[in-house]
Amino acid sequence: MTQVFQIGGLELKAFSDGILKTSTDFVLGMEQPQAKSLTRAEDDGAVFIPVNNFLFQKDGATVLIDAGAGDTMQATLGKLPANLAAAGHGVETVTHIVVTHCHGDHINGLVDASGAALFPNAEILVHAQEFDFWMAENTGSESEKVKRQRARNKINLTPYLDRVRRMRDGEVVLGCTPMLAPGHSPGHTCWRIGEGRNAFVAWGDLVHFSDIQIAHPDVAVKYDLDPDLARRSRLRFLDMVAADGLAVAGAHVAAPGLGYLSRRGAGYEFNPA
Ligand SMILES: [Zn+2]
Repeated sequence: MTQVFQIGGLELKAFSDGILKTSTDFVLGMEQPQAKSLTRAEDDGAVFIPVNNFLFQKDGATVLIDAGAGDTMQATLGKLPANLAAAGHGVETVTHIVVTHCHGDHINGLVDASGAALFPNAEILVHAQEFDFWMAENTGSESEKVKRQRARNKINLTPYLDRVRRMRDGEVVLGCTPMLAPGHSPGHTCWRIGEGRNAFVAWGDLVHFSDIQIAHPDVAVKYDLDPDLARRSRLRFLDMVAADGLAVAGAHVAAPGLGYLSRRGAGYEFNPA
């Protein structure tokens, strides 16, 4: 069943791509017992987090936020296309896809198993800094992780090359404005979407372990390409959305992932919408 919210002058629908199995082993800057306790992890550290996607319609366009993992990662993921179709939003009806960042659980779902575009009519809105980093050729100094991710992202994005809009901070398309929040990836983006004070922020992986990093924003994750930079981005954006009372749409916040932040001690608290 689709959950629908009225936010930012928009009717925002939340969709699940499924559940991602991860581990407290990826937590940086917190002892394992506390990390396991906060995430209610299994004894071996296994943690199951949601992968949330969002969709709205505006001015005749149908805008999807991130594209899920496809069938590339775990059997519990890749549910987004079926969930969209069940709500009457077949992949062919999507006209724009807002990309928060180019990691597998966010954009591997852009293509099918043969590498063809799964969204035949969608234009990609992505921050230029994110797109350019992943589409660049390797110079030889990159980590294996970056090389692997670059190779995969070329599979994901090449079918869309004639319909990618590389955006920069301050540009607006269909009410969507990218705000660079780098660290998790070089061009990781928080998108401000909607009108004025009622806007919401699609924050991608600003927090990855929401049960830890909202209350303890200093904690980073090994998925961050630059954990210190990711930490600074997180502190900056959590402060902004709390101070401005903006709604947030989080990729890995308790499903469906929409809510508001309030300050609590040295960190924040998530209040579902
Ligand atoms: Zn993610």
